[in-house]
Amino acid sequence: MPTVKKTNPLSYVDAKECTGCESCVASVPKVFRMTADGIAEVFEPQGDTQSAIQDAMDSCPVSCIHWKK
Ligand code: SF4
Repeated sequence: MPTVKKTNPLSYVDAKECTGCESCVASVPKVFRMTADGIAEVFEPQGDTQSAIQDAMDSCPVSCIHWKK
């Protein structure tokens, strides 16, 4: 039976809104990282579960992590 690999929707951080609090990086470090500019970015959209990414979105104090439509 072939293995079906599940893929998350793509997520991104709105750099204009990010305050650099590092909450998302602390909670989902396989998906988010800090840039040299002190803002978060998504470097591996498939690095963790969709649920974990959603939790990071829900915990972001300025709600600047989004799913790409
Ligand atoms: Fe930026 Fe939100 Fe991540 Fe904090 S939780 S670093 S504000 S994207």
